[in-house]
Amino acid sequence: MDRGAKELMRRIDDSMRQTSQWTGREGLTPDVRRAMEVVPRDAFVPAQHRAAAWDNRPLPIGHGQTISQPFIVAIMVDLLDAQPDHVVLEIGTGCGYAAAVLSHVVARVHTVEVVAGLAAEARERLARLGYGKIVVHEGDGNAGWPDEAPYDGIVVTAAAADVPPALLEQLKPGGRMVLPLGDPFGHQELVLVTKDAAGEVTTRSVLPVAFVPLVDP
Ligand code: SAH
Repeated sequence: MDRGAKELMRRIDDSMRQTSQWTGREGLTPDVRRAMEVVPRDAFVPAQHRAAAWDNRPLPIGHGQTISQPFIVAIMVDLLDAQPDHVVLEIGTGCGYAAAVLSHVVARVHTVEVVAGLAAEARERLARLGYGKIVVHEGDGNAGWPDEAPYDGIVVTAAAADVPPALLEQLKPGGRMVLPLGDPFGHQELVLVTKDAAGEVTTRSVLPVAFVPLVDP
């Protein structure tokens, strides 16, 4: 592992410890930690931000959008309790970084991006890097992606006021969804939604966060 990745992992481990009273997790699951180590974040950021690629912070990726903070990607994927046979839906592909991390711990990732240019760039980038388990779809993630539903897990990387009903419908019984909820330009909380075997839904606030808005195109 190069120095940038090593330092980033140290910072993520620190953040895990500092937030454990809220997340209930002292450290990352080994598979998720390994995924964070191996995904080349520098390949997901524009050339002018490459020197900062291994910093534990969000960065601009063009189209007014950002690549998420690595710690936030790590805790979102960790909270999914993903298994190797899982099929997962991501809403908000952006540059494809979180999808790449997810693809190391599950069987298939379907990811939906509303900005056509970002979807095309992410599709090209992920193919070039050899990420064969990820399918990038262009569309409005408020509708989920019904064609491949239901999903074992769903992550949303843009903030809405409420859980989009289509996403709840497309989550399997026993499934988990992690998403930022709140004011798109104000206070937001990362929320863990669980659907039990009987279809009963429970939500739990995990952490204050700041995501770009989930748009209603
Ligand atoms: N997952 C990304 C983070 C992307 S930022 C990463 O790994 O870094 C959030 C993304 O959500 C942006 O690309 C934005 O265009 C997209 N987005 C916003 N509203 C959306 C919607 N309704 N449907 C799908 N994508 C949406």
